[in-house]
Amino acid sequence: MPHDSDTTFVYRFGDGSAEGSKEMKALLGGKGANLNEMSALGLPVPPGFTITTEACHYYNDHDGDWPRGMQDEVEGGIAHLETLMDRTLGDAEAPLLVSVRSGAAVSMPGMMDSVLNLGLNDDTVAGLARATGNARFAYDAYRRLIDMFGDVVAGVPHRRFEDVMTELKDERGAANDLDLTADDLRTLVDRYRALFEDETGEPFPSDPREQLRRAIDAVFDSWRNERAVKYRKINNITGLRGTAVNVQAMVYGNMGEQSGTGVCFTRNPATGENKLFGEFLPNAQGEDVVAGIRTPRDIQELQDLMPAIYDELQEVRRTLEAHYGDMQDLEFTIQDGTLYILQTRDGKRTGPAAIKIAVDMVDEELIDRRRAVAHLVEPRHLDQLLHPHFDEDADYEDDVLGTGLPASPGAAVGRAVFSADDAEAAAKNGEDVILVRTETSPEDVGGMDAAQGIITSRGGMTSHAAVVARGWGKPCVAGCDALTVYEDEKRFTNGSVTIHAGDWISMDGATGAVIRGKVPLVEPEMTGAFSTFMAWVDEFRTLGVRANADTADDAQQALDFGAAGIGLCRTEHMFFGDERILAMREMILADTEDARRDALDALRPHQRSDFADIFRVMDGHPVTIRLLDPPLHEFLPNDAAGQKKLAERAGVSVDAVREKVEALEEFNPMLGHRGCRLGITVPALTEMQTRAIIEAALDVQADGISVHPEIMVPLVSTRAEFDDQRRVIERTIQTVFDEREASVDVHIGTMIEVPRAALQAESIGAAADFFSFGTNDLTQMTFGYSRDDAGSFLPSYVDEGLLPEDPFQALDQEGVGELVRLGTERGRTANPELPVGICGEHGGEPSSIAFCYEAGLDYVSCSPFRVPIARLAAAQAAIKADA
Ligand code: PEP
Ligand code: MG
Repeated sequence: MPHDSDTTFVYRFGDGSAEGSKEMKALLGGKGANLNEMSALGLPVPPGFTITTEACHYYNDHDGDWPRGMQDEVEGGIAHLETLMDRTLGDAEAPLLVSVRSGAAVSMPGMMDSVLNLGLNDDTVAGLARATGNARFAYDAYRRLIDMFGDVVAGVPHRRFEDVMTELKDERGAANDLDLTADDLRTLVDRYRALFEDETGEPFPSDPREQLRRAIDAVFDSWRNERAVKYRKINNITGLRGTAVNVQAMVYGNMGEQSGTGVCFTRNPATGENKLFGEFLPNAQGEDVVAGIRTPRDIQELQDLMPAIYDELQEVRRTLEAHYGDMQDLEFTIQDGTLYILQTRDGKRTGPAAIKIAVDMVDEELIDRRRAVAHLVEPRHLDQLLHPHFDEDADYEDDVLGTGLPASPGAAVGRAVFSADDAEAAAKNGEDVILVRTETSPEDVGGMDAAQGIITSRGGMTSHAAVVARGWGKPCVAGCDALTVYEDEKRFTNGSVTIHAGDWISMDGATGAVIRGKVPLVEPEMTGAFSTFMAWVDEFRTLGVRANADTADDAQQALDFGAAGIGLCRTEHMFFGDERILAMREMILADTEDARRDALDALRPHQRSDFADIFRVMDGHPVTIRLLDPPLHEFLPNDAAGQKKLAERAGVSVDAVREKVEALEEFNPMLGHRGCRLGITVPALTEMQTRAIIEAALDVQADGISVHPEIMVPLVSTRAEFDDQRRVIERTIQTVFDEREASVDVHIGTMIEVPRAALQAESIGAAADFFSFGTNDLTQMTFGYSRDDAGSFLPSYVDEGLLPEDPFQALDQEGVGELVRLGTERGRTANPELPVGICGEHGGEPSSIAFCYEAGLDYVSCSPFRVPIARLAAAQAAIKADA
């Protein structure tokens, strides 16, 4: 079916062929691209056509007009369906009925709208009843159309239709929908139409073409509805043109006992187990599964109920996994003994599942290692794998309030909240909360994002809460039906215990337990599949990954996670602690050089033993130690009691202490007397730290451990500053070498965190042994946004779209990134071998890591827990560049 026009808005598929393919996600949306692909693969897909995201973009840009030519193409699509289905839109005898479904390039579950059964009116419903021999079914389809069309297209809330249905059920004494007869449903159709007319002031449109046009428009409109916009924002989905629209021949899962509908994953999305996983409902429509009206059955039961269909589904699973090279998430419908696949996409999964699936699929020879590393595990999956869980020894059995479905693993502790708004408000105040709902809906995504975990009393493994939480790697317990949730009264109960808003609760998304009180959390340990996978990651990675670690424990953690060294050891924490802080304060208060040196001498043994501990752990790996960075006033007491205590110890007056505190106070400490400016004005400080580093290195080296100290000067902006500090450092090193009659190889480098240093990198690079970009300060000084104060305006900048992201989280590649690129180039002009790294927070953020790879950096350095994430992000960047 080749297409002959240049600007094609409609791509047809069905009967073993297709005009589109899975590569066309940006244009056809995920659902549309995959429907086309599956059709071309010969899988049983109901025929249809996909209207492009470009058409949606045009529509939204032109006040709801369709682009020229689209009308004809839609007609062509309808004709295509009519031929393949041997039915005609609006025909009273053999009516064609279609569904209209949204589908953007990135999956946005439940965010946009669908309308089913389009094409029904008073004439065609009779035809459908005759053709199927089932009047009840036909009128049921009709009333669903009026309900969905009313809700999605005409703005009549679904619950108004529900009320009318409940009223009729009461009149008829019907316990559930299935007790209503064909005549009852005919009555319901009349009442629905009356409701529609009352609410909208127009009759329900009976022309199938008008129905179709308006449904397509409504799906285009839904791209811009509030919840879709919010979802895109939370998930950082930008740069999309709009949603595609899929128009497909209807198939029905509610045509009797040999019919049904379901959703399944080709593998278990929570654990990764290689087994079909999911749910189905016999004799039901797709929306019945989602709405949770009836309890779905385990997909495995299909094996007994419809063995031939189960086998066919297994075959589809094998075909899709082999073809897509990934675990798939399917929707299917069985219409009177015939299987139809309505959707496939790469399945969302938990971190542990992602790792297991990647490793298993390589073992099963479905994919190679490169694909496993590049596509099957996302950096955030590792994050989730590193999530805390409950302490094994925690004894909380008596406090379990109920156990629901283990919908998304990870343990969480927080105060109970009962609305998305409350969750968002509490999170803004820095509180940990758990969102407890009967069920969640797309309106709740803001609160779900803000909460530590989500609990619902209703809904299955494929409910909204479960799907969304899993995608985010957020702990979720779904369908905990032992609990009754009273959202309006802000409480829930299991019959004996009632939890109110603000009470502490704990939850385990891996077991489904909901627990009263706070259960202690512990950090996770890694599985065998994790090490296998991470070893593959390192086969592709060229960028080094170090860690920011200030203690021997952190250093050990970093090594365990695969760090190749320490890229930043901030020494300031080493000045806190009872004894040390007093010596530090004495040093600051000292009036004479001698007094200052005495105080520094008191500090040195502490520093030396801290460094020695770290060197010992980091045997054979480089350790970059940064000289003291924060302004001195941070070490002095601001309160009267603290000042008095210090005065007593130092033998000076309280006034003298107060005066010193006041003298050191700065209007803008971030731009004040800090960084190398300290070492330049107080060289004894640089001497003391250097001495402690070198003494520690020699001590540890003497024990046969391989030590690679790197001394890093912070906040340099001129070559002269670096030269000054280098001189002091080198002189001190030589003195210690002479005293000890021993030596060790030491590198002396600098941070590049002031824009001027990046600009002057050629000059500084000629004198430094290495560069490390401090992108926290570099971001602060490039934007002129105070790191301490940006919180008051940056969120609204991001909200308003003035910035794509918080530049303190994800590197601003255009601006700050340009300085990184330029600083690296200029540094290497002076010294082509210059090692260059990054140690700001960005060193653990995947998009920034990809940038660092492209900019030619040698390594990134990040917190120990982000080391595995950085390793994966670095490998993925390398594979991408190689493609
Ligand atoms: C930086 O500025 O990026 C950096 C690593 O140093 P600090 O965050 O300690 O200022
Ligand atoms: Mg800094």
